[in-house]
Amino acid sequence: MAEPGRPRPLTGATRVAAVIGAPVRHSLSPALHNAAFAATDLDWAYVAFEVADGAGRDAVAAMRTLGLAGLSVTMPHKAAVHGAVDALTATARDLGAVNCVFWEDDRLVGENTDGAGFLDALSVDAGVAVGGRRCVLVGAGGAGRAVARALGEAGAAEVVVVNRSAAAAERAAALAGRVGRVGGADAVPHADIVVNATPLGMAGGGGERARSLPVDAAALRAGQVVVDLIYHPVETPLLAAAARAGATTVGGVGMLVHQAARAFSRWTGIAAPVDAMRAAAEAEIASRAPSVGDP
Ligand code: NAP
Repeated sequence: MAEPGRPRPLTGATRVAAVIGAPVRHSLSPALHNAAFAATDLDWAYVAFEVADGAGRDAVAAMRTLGLAGLSVTMPHKAAVHGAVDALTATARDLGAVNCVFWEDDRLVGENTDGAGFLDALSVDAGVAVGGRRCVLVGAGGAGRAVARALGEAGAAEVVVVNRSAAAAERAAALAGRVGRVGGADAVPHADIVVNATPLGMAGGGGERARSLPVDAAALRAGQVVVDLIYHPVETPLLAAAARAGATTVGGVGMLVHQAARAFSRWTGIAAPVDAMRAAAEAEIASRAPSVGDP
């Protein structure tokens, strides 16, 4: 047994999990998952593989050949892996995107843990229940779609999707089910929960984006819960404005940690050491230059 929290030495029996993406070198996933394996004293290791766009299907075949014990999937492979696994969870099927592959007997199953991770961050970390709440979701990309579906499934009273492109907004709103609709920024003052799923406010990409607000600060108020999916910086301009308005704020680190924790449990069959994963994520983010903030 290794010293608690210290990685085990690698052995011939070490099981390997990995993330595929392009680019992937900046991924926080190795830090989170290796911290989790150390905290649980599992003889597992987690590495990052740069896999070129178009080779996601080959990477799934490699997972079988090499006997990788778990796979995380990030851009640009989420849709290709969706089409390459043996089975899909209902969430991954609806979203058309896979961020985690796990073994079920000898079948590879595609899952998407973003929505569940988002809900865990709200309920477990912030004590916020979504049931019966009016929600406004700004942004309708991959993360926005996962959040829209999760909010609808968790019993939100309303999910209003506000997005630059109308077609993407419609697609996300549909995932929320009968409570989903497309709307405009005028919905924000009436919302109980406001979620930013755009990159506005994210570090890097030029100063203008980093200083941008996805909603008008004057529309935020006390009594609201304002959630930013961005985790770098930890306090975004939106969260700072929400705090000034007296709203409850929830940053993106919680979702990052909980979506990874859900993947860890799918692979290992045991509860994830969430606190160790959060500490690893926070240390890694703090060590990074402001320009390195992408997911
Ligand atoms: P994505 O698929 O590229 O979607 C980006 C969304 O933001 C789209 O709806 C896009 O609108 C909108 N958008 C982009 N630039 C904009 C601008 N200048 N003005 C207005 N809207 C703009 O990205 P994603 O994967 O969903 O990620 C979105 C954010 O969530 C990122 O900041 C990412 O870091 C964060 N995220 C966090 C976690 C976590 O675990 N905490 C997980 C995933 C993502 P159009 O549809 O009009 O293009």
